[in-house]
Amino acid sequence: TKFKEGLQKTTSAFTEKMDDLLRRYKKIDEAFYEELEEILISADVGVTTVMELIDDLRSEVKKQRIEDAGQLKPILSEKLVSLLKGDDTDVELRLNEDGLTVILFVGVNGVGKTTTIGKLAHRLKSQGKSVLLAAGDTFRAGAIEQLEVWGQRVGVDVIKHQAGSDPAAVIYDAVQAAKQRKIDVLLCDTAGRLQNKTNLMEELNKIYRVIGREVPGAPHEVLLVVDATTGQNALSQAKLFGEKTGVTGLVLSKLDGTAKGGIVIAIRNELNIPVKFVGLGEKMDDLEPFDSEQFVHALFA
Ligand code: GDP
Repeated sequence: TKFKEGLQKTTSAFTEKMDDLLRRYKKIDEAFYEELEEILISADVGVTTVMELIDDLRSEVKKQRIEDAGQLKPILSEKLVSLLKGDDTDVELRLNEDGLTVILFVGVNGVGKTTTIGKLAHRLKSQGKSVLLAAGDTFRAGAIEQLEVWGQRVGVDVIKHQAGSDPAAVIYDAVQAAKQRKIDVLLCDTAGRLQNKTNLMEELNKIYRVIGREVPGAPHEVLLVVDATTGQNALSQAKLFGEKTGVTGLVLSKLDGTAKGGIVIAIRNELNIPVKFVGLGEKMDDLEPFDSEQFVHALFA
């Protein structure tokens, strides 16, 4: 599967160490837990989450009177699946069935925001939906052109203004165009300057107001894109943005580029925001809805 291919780096780092650990310890003792802790932390699962997992595992081992480490694999994978599933019923993309759906993308420059928008446009299009893109990042040099390249690649139009213009005005125009053309889904890019937080928040709030006024109930999703290869940085960005911008879902890009895919687990456990998609490559097909079971299955391949 796509997950298996995309997670190869993580899998080969993690699985080998894990298998080796489970093979070496015939008896589960303190040294075993310490090694397990190290493996999970080196996969970027995050200290908080690792501690919780290990505490959980300890009580399970006691309860079931498990003695051989070899028996722990199914238990550990089950724990990871349930942790990743969390209590969210909301991993599916929220679409407005009665009209225009507006989805806003936020995230720091370079995380893969434009690429993700292109990939999602392609995905929605191949599901038979009409899609329009709004070039709301008027700040970064080249952002508009880059979105246009993706628009051409996947065959969807892009609504744009000049570089430096008011992003809320671009998005207003895009919403009007989407309504006129009876478009199903409008995907809006936004600027990703983190260094200037107050302005960014003001800008986003202005965009929210415009969208909400023009389309009741919109934006239907605010998707934060974070770069999996940045590890714990991705986690802190998700925390920061999540608190301030009303993020409804995460996209974890570049999961194929890291051996530390455990970051998904940390993010899922430490934030109450569902991971909706993962990026598994640079091509238009390389975006997959996040599936906890497939993910854990790939880890323990
Ligand atoms: P933006 O500044 O956030 O819009 O980032 P871009 O969309 O321009 O992406 C930055 C770089 O990351 C580009 O070279 C992309 O091809 C690459 N990229 C984006 N998503 C993925 C992914 O899922 N996997 C890999 N390997 N590369 C990605």
